[in-house]
Amino acid sequence: MRILPVLGVLSLSAALLVAPSPASAAGPSTASHSGPAPALGPTATGYGGAVSTVDATATAVGLDVLRHGGNAVDAAVAAAATLGVTEPFSAGIGGGGFFVYYDARKRTVSTIDGRETGPATMRETHFIDPADNLPYDFPEARVSGLSVGAPGTLATWEAATRKWGTKSLSALLQPAARVADRGFPVDATFRQQVADNAAAFGQFDSTKALYLPGGAPPAVGSTQRNPDLADTYRLIARQGTDVLYRGAVARDIVRTVQNPPVSANPVGTWTYPIRPGTLTLNDLARYDLRFPAPTKSKFRDLTVYGMSTPSSGGVAVSEALNIIETARIKDTTQALHYYLEASALSFADRNRHVGAYTSQKVLDRLVSDRWAGQRACQISPAKALTKPVPPGDLNATGCTPATVGGPAEQGMSTTNLTVADRWGNVVEYTFTIEQTGGNAMVVPGRGFLLNNELTDFNFVNTQAPAADPNLPGPGKRPRSSMSPTIVLKDGKPFLALGSPGGATIITTVLQILLNRVVLDKSLPESMAAPRASQRNTAGIQSEPSFRTTYGPALTALGHTFAADVPELGAATAIEFTRGGGFIASAEPVRRGGGAAGVVHPTR
Ligand code: GLU
Repeated sequence: MRILPVLGVLSLSAALLVAPSPASAAGPSTASHSGPAPALGPTATGYGGAVSTVDATATAVGLDVLRHGGNAVDAAVAAAATLGVTEPFSAGIGGGGFFVYYDARKRTVSTIDGRETGPATMRETHFIDPADNLPYDFPEARVSGLSVGAPGTLATWEAATRKWGTKSLSALLQPAARVADRGFPVDATFRQQVADNAAAFGQFDSTKALYLPGGAPPAVGSTQRNPDLADTYRLIARQGTDVLYRGAVARDIVRTVQNPPVSANPVGTWTYPIRPGTLTLNDLARYDLRFPAPTKSKFRDLTVYGMSTPSSGGVAVSEALNIIETARIKDTTQALHYYLEASALSFADRNRHVGAYTSQKVLDRLVSDRWAGQRACQISPAKALTKPVPPGDLNATGCTPATVGGPAEQGMSTTNLTVADRWGNVVEYTFTIEQTGGNAMVVPGRGFLLNNELTDFNFVNTQAPAADPNLPGPGKRPRSSMSPTIVLKDGKPFLALGSPGGATIITTVLQILLNRVVLDKSLPESMAAPRASQRNTAGIQSEPSFRTTYGPALTALGHTFAADVPELGAATAIEFTRGGGFIASAEPVRRGGGAAGVVHPTR
């Protein structure tokens, strides 16, 4: 959480109301019309609109847009652009994501699939080293041009604002450009993210110059500026998003991918060759957003909307909820037991059956109550299943186990935001550059990191002898776990939530829903509660406090714990209360704590 710039950095009304010019956008901020903003903590309750992100500057930008008449989509895009500055290792215009939107007037949920797309020339063997026919080690694949997909984030912002917003993208980029110009204070999380990536960042002049000043990570409390990114945002504001898909920025992206800007004087040692990629100008020019129907399922009296393929998030969350719904849950141990069992079963099915090209028929089957019944029949209330569990057979008519399990990816990158406006519109948006630090290459002169999203493909078949739905292919999008979720009750928004965390995103979203709906905790309690993730592996991954609190009872049921992880996820959420109120909620502690705010706080 960045605490300092909340006051004073944001006189955004001017930027939103007048045509952007480099001079005005770069100039110092004047006093905000809206008066001093309150400090932003992890929980805020009130009216008039709400924003929750991982970062106080981004939340403040979103709130200011709402205060000046913008709707949820406007605020989400302005906050997202700001996160591209202040959370550059998690997300930005070099990456992609999934945008879920509830339109209060139409009472519909729509989505934008802005996932990165592989080159037209990509083959199944994309991550196989021709020298020895073995898959590349993950770091070698990641820090390369091979991992970069055509980015969808900027196209997503443009489409969202055009379809549903009220301000121009040009105007909405200005607050972020100002933050990039003026800088923000480096906090411990930011510094640590650089430190964790120092060897990779140190190989590229452009990345080194921006994030390793004097050859070391920036000091906590120093001011981090990014004038190149400010200029890129303003160039986009003037020339339109085409500049990134067909113009000068596109050429720079392709040059970086095909000819990585490797430093003659690297900082630190990188033991792998840095391989070029094959993404072309044509791949960028042909980048297409998709607008798939959301996944939809019922859980008790709620309707749960999520992201469809190429994300597996919506399907996996819905399948697991449907399985949990079959259980008679009498206490917390049973709730967690069913949560862990349902997660493992859904991950087995997701690994076997869900990829970019899974048919709607299969997706519908996986989120059906009938399928949940065919999977839940294996669960015993008294004894945990042995993990990994086999995926279900789609042709089965009864209870369905089969033969092989699957891998358990995990990442800690990505960012999530939740916004609601006074008209009742809601945005849930998860976006990423994949690993923290993406592929480690800042596009020279442009100030943003490229994604390594294509490493979300499986490098080899993980499902043999069955087919793996997530192998690389020409122009294909890698399977994601991102799970932006909007839940309606009686046809009106009840809860919106999402999180980063690679494949643990699915379990984090699921666990917050379990806490809120099944265990009846408040939203802030549901967010703060210790987390565990069972992604169909022998051992459950959990935060230390989860294992200490619930480990003994769950172990007695036969669950096994793997080594602890310090934290899982960095969620944001908003709950909708009676009479048009909001509870905006962010992490109290994880990833340095997030920032929730409302337009009119309730005292
Ligand atoms: N690339 C991951 C996905 O799309 C997200 C990365 C992360 O959250 O760490 O599922």
